[in-house]
Amino acid sequence: MLLYNSLTHNKEEFFTNEPGKVKLYTCGPTVYHYAHIGNLRTYMMEDVLDKYLRYLGYDVLRVMNITDVGHLSSDADTGEDKMLKGARREHKTVMEIAKFYTDAFFDDCRRLNIRIPDVIEPATGCIPEFIHMIEVLLEKGYAYQAGGNVYFDTSKLKEYYVFNKHEEEDLMVGVREGVEEDVNKRNKNDFVLWFTKSKFEDQALKWDSPWGVGYPGWHIECSCISMKHCGEYLDIHCGGIDNAFPHHTNEIAQSEAYLGHKWCNFWFHVLHLNDASGKMSKSKGAFLTLSVLTDKGYDPMAYRLFCLQSHYRRNLVFTWEGLDNAAVTYNKLVARIAALKESDGAVDEEAAAALRAKFREALDNDLNTSLAVTALYDVLKYKTDDRTKLAVLGEFDAVLGLNLLDAAAKKREEQKQAAAQAAKQAGAYTVVAEGCEPDTAVEEQIRARYDAKKAKNFAEADRIRDELKAQGIEIIDVPGGAKYRKN
Ligand code: AMP
Ligand code: ZN
Repeated sequence: MLLYNSLTHNKEEFFTNEPGKVKLYTCGPTVYHYAHIGNLRTYMMEDVLDKYLRYLGYDVLRVMNITDVGHLSSDADTGEDKMLKGARREHKTVMEIAKFYTDAFFDDCRRLNIRIPDVIEPATGCIPEFIHMIEVLLEKGYAYQAGGNVYFDTSKLKEYYVFNKHEEEDLMVGVREGVEEDVNKRNKNDFVLWFTKSKFEDQALKWDSPWGVGYPGWHIECSCISMKHCGEYLDIHCGGIDNAFPHHTNEIAQSEAYLGHKWCNFWFHVLHLNDASGKMSKSKGAFLTLSVLTDKGYDPMAYRLFCLQSHYRRNLVFTWEGLDNAAVTYNKLVARIAALKESDGAVDEEAAAALRAKFREALDNDLNTSLAVTALYDVLKYKTDDRTKLAVLGEFDAVLGLNLLDAAAKKREEQKQAAAQAAKQAGAYTVVAEGCEPDTAVEEQIRARYDAKKAKNFAEADRIRDELKAQGIEIIDVPGGAKYRKN
C-alpha cells in the first residue's frame, strides 16, 4: 500500500515496525464544543485508514486522546484555554463540559459509522505520565524553567521544522495573528510543557508538580498517551492538517528528545473542509454540526459519502448542493443493492477476486476513496450472480462504512411492507351497517361468510346467511364489502 507521508512529502510503501501490527494514534477532539463537520471529515478519513488496514489483515491498535485540558485557542501558548471558554459559555464546570461534549462526539462517530478506537484516554487521566516526561526532558537538557513555566528548548534540536523545511510560513497555519510573544521563551518556537504561572488565574483544573501547582501544555498529552499504549515506536500518527504545526511538530520534538530515537514513521494529515467563506472553524461562531444536517433530514451516510467522494489530501468545499447530490447518489446505490436477490450458496470466487483487485488498487494508492466508491458500481455491473455481488459489497463496505447492506435490507423490508399494505388495501372487505346501529357480532358473522365464500365453502356461507336472515338481518353485497340492515 502506498501512503503519503507528510514527513517525506512522498507516497511511500507502507511498512510497520512489527510484522502484521499497526500502532495508530489519532489526535482526539478538544471537548469544549460540538465537533463540526470539518472535524468529522478528518475522523471519517482516519476511520477508513483504520478499517482498510484491518481489511489488509493488519492487527491494528488505535489510540485516541481526549483533550480536556491545556489546549489554548491559538494552538500555541497564547489565547484562552478552550475548555475554560466552553465552561464559561455554558455556566458549567470544565468536567461537566468535557463529559457532555465527549459523549456528543462519540454519538456523532456512531451515527457516521466511525469505529470507536481501541483505547480512548482523556488527558486529565495521565498527569503523572506528563510530569515524568517533562522531568526526563529537563534532565536531558531539552527543557528549562522560566517565569514559573517549563518550556521545551527547540534550539537543542538538529531540526525543528520537520514537516516543511522550506516554507516556514506555510507551517504557521495554526498560529493566529496578533498573539503576543511570551518573554520567558528563549527561542521563538519554544513551547510550554507545564504551566504554573499564566494568565489563567481561575484555571479550573490544576495539579501538583515538581514545578508548582499548574497544568500541562497541549502537545505533551499526545506524546505521552501514545507512548503509554503504543510504546516507543509508532507506525502512523493522524490528524487534520492544522495539527502539523505547531502540534505535531512539537510532539515530534519532545518525543524524540525524550526517547533518543525516531518515534513515528508515517504522518497522515487530512486536509480541511471549507465552506464558502473559508476554513470551517469553531472560533468563527456559527458552524455546522452533524445534528444540523440530520435535523434538516439528511442521512449521516450521505455526508459520509460526500466526504469519501473526494481525496483526503485535497481541501473539500462543503455546499448544500453537493450534499444533496451525495444523498441522491446514496439512495440510488442503496436501491440498486436492495434489488439484488439474497440466496445461500458459494460465492463466484473468480469474479470476487477480480472485483477485489480493483478495490485494492484504489485504496492501495494513498487511500483513493473516490475510486473505491466507483468500485462499488463495478460490482453492481459485473457479470456474476447476486449472491457474489452482495458478498463483495459487504466486504468493501466494511472499509467504506456506508452501511450499505443494512440500508438495503431496511429498504427491502420497507418495500415488502408497502407491497403487503397495497395488497391488503386491494383486498379489503368493508362491512357497514345501513339504517341500524352497528353490531360487531353481526359484522363478524358477515366476515366469516365472506371467508367461507373465498374458501369456496358455499354451504357454510349459505348457512351463515340463513342464520342471519332468521335474526331479521339482510346482507347486501357491494363491491369491496357488504352492507346489512335489520328488518
Ligand atoms: P479539535 O477538536 O479542534 O482539536 O480538532 C479535531 C480534529 O479536527 C483535528 O484533527 C483537527 O486537525 C481537525 N480539523 C479542524 N478543523 C478542520 C477542518 N475545517 N476540516 C477538517 N479537519 C479539521
Ligand atoms: Zn495531538
